[in-house]
Amino acid sequence: MNLDRLLRKHLKGLKPYQSARDEYTGREGIFLDANENPLGSATEEAFNRYPDPYQQEVKAALALVKLIREPYIFLGNGSDEAIDLLYRAFCEPGEDHVILLPPTYGMYKVSAQINGVDIREVSLAEDFQLDVEAIRARVSPMTKLIFICSPNNPTGNLMDREAIRQVIEMAPGLVVVDEAYADFAPDQSVLHWVREYPNLVVLQTFSKAWGLANLRLGMAFADPAIIQILNQIKPPYNVNGLTQRMALEALKNRKKMQQQVSDLLEEREKLQAGLSALPLVERVYPSDANFLLVKVPEPDRWYQELIDKRIIVRNRSRVHLCEGCLRITVGRPFENRMLLEVLAQLT
Ligand code: PMP
Repeated sequence: MNLDRLLRKHLKGLKPYQSARDEYTGREGIFLDANENPLGSATEEAFNRYPDPYQQEVKAALALVKLIREPYIFLGNGSDEAIDLLYRAFCEPGEDHVILLPPTYGMYKVSAQINGVDIREVSLAEDFQLDVEAIRARVSPMTKLIFICSPNNPTGNLMDREAIRQVIEMAPGLVVVDEAYADFAPDQSVLHWVREYPNLVVLQTFSKAWGLANLRLGMAFADPAIIQILNQIKPPYNVNGLTQRMALEALKNRKKMQQQVSDLLEEREKLQAGLSALPLVERVYPSDANFLLVKVPEPDRWYQELIDKRIIVRNRSRVHLCEGCLRITVGRPFENRMLLEVLAQLT
């Protein structure tokens, strides 16, 4: 793959912003280089120094957890930042396009629109799997990115790995496999394929299983040449110091995350059974994630009735292939019980 062909023309030869801390990386010293306030902060805890722009400690810890070397890792302000940076790096507005596979995560489209990039949509098949031949029919040399979400939001299913492989092998540009929910799924991650395929980008996040949505920390794994480009165009201090410190703490407490995942999966099974037992529920789709897609007769009314009881779910009933569906996140045990109680009263 020729990454130079994929990179936007105006970025070739870009001289990235050199932050003060790029030049001297030692920890000790008298730092008079970054116009910080040397006295401390207006808070109890001091936040007066800029954070490490390349998040090296977090990457070192993450490398051990994910069994991949640091040059393959990019960290961003949520995986949403990585999505946006991929557009900005590789998609020439008005010339290039991306392929999206609806129904899927909404930010791929919004980010394309913000960046003025054309979209080609190829529907998932009825069973929510990839329609490889339909994708092949829409691919052209101007296809810079193809987004595959696995497990997919909002349908909850993992994509067939061989189908993902076929898309990677046919793609003239990059294939982005978004594994935001992979920690809830049986281990089918394609993360380690990044060593084999220089056109593969795998996205993961600390927002879901790790329970750190508030901190905004997303991961992109890819060939070091791609990671280097993302690092060159990102804002210098895109991941704040508090987030870096908390991520390190989380990575040391991996067992807690795994315990929560296993508790949530147990809850998902109970919720699935409870919802399926409701006479009016038409279908509860199988899920490899921490949410369920549920088909009901009157989704708008059900949604509103739940809101009236201060239970907020996602109304996906106007989304292609999800007609009639609500998307329900697995909550705490008592929250799921409340939901089932309210739904059982609906007629
Ligand atoms: N990808 C998918 C599939 C998601 O559902 C979400 C969040 N809803 C994200 C990415 C964004 O995650 P982050 O919080 O890391 O920006």
